[in-house]
Amino acid sequence: MRKKIIAGNWKMNKTVEESAKLATELVAACKGQAFAEKTEIVVCPTYLALDRVAGILKGSPIKLGAQDVHFENQGAFTSKISVDMLKAVGVTYVILGHSEPRTLFGETDANVNKKTLKVLAERLIPIVCVGETLAEREADITETVVGNQVRAAYQGVSAQDAVKTVIAYEPVWAIGTGRTASDDQAQAVHLYIRGLLKELYGASTADAVRIQYGGSMKAENAGGLLSRPDIDGGLIGGAALKVETFLGIIKAA
Ligand code: PEP
Repeated sequence: MRKKIIAGNWKMNKTVEESAKLATELVAACKGQAFAEKTEIVVCPTYLALDRVAGILKGSPIKLGAQDVHFENQGAFTSKISVDMLKAVGVTYVILGHSEPRTLFGETDANVNKKTLKVLAERLIPIVCVGETLAEREADITETVVGNQVRAAYQGVSAQDAVKTVIAYEPVWAIGTGRTASDDQAQAVHLYIRGLLKELYGASTADAVRIQYGGSMKAENAGGLLSRPDIDGGLIGGAALKVETFLGIIKAA
């Protein structure tokens, strides 16, 4: 049985104070609740707020994630953050290859691969994001695009490490648009990804890897998506910014 994982990607939202407030509300709402034990919950604030939020999450079941990382340890990489720095503040998960860095900041498959290898080598857990654009879906090449992204990200990753990873299938046309993939559309791509993992690593690894859906997930559509056999959670943007909307999704999981 794969434990469902709901992760909130706060993106470039909230000051440190606002992040602390949201984390505090979330911890209070999850305290002693069965739903918070049943589902893995992760929040990914900005780098600036990680340390403060880490202190607030301490002792709660909620885990801390970062929105990206650099693959080098240290040095002349202005604006970047290393895995060691994330580990030092208590980060467990790292989002990699999100469509925003891919489309807005030139993130490449090769970089995503280097970061995946680095994060795994340092015993953090990557959330590897993949997904097709609307034009690619309409051209009927969703599986080719997503397959290439998965193959590239997992180059050189052993089965032993692959089993620990999380994949987020996020159709680019559904991110922040209010337009969600249907349960069938999402399940079909998740099944395809699991089949690819089986081809790359064998059935037991493929069965263990959790595959999240991301793209305008909210409490109202989460139940349907999360009831499908290969959808193991959600990566949430907009709806993760308020405790009520994020909780609605966690409860649906
Ligand atoms: C995301 O950015 O990962 C995302 C899924 O955003 P939203 O939920 O706002 O579509």
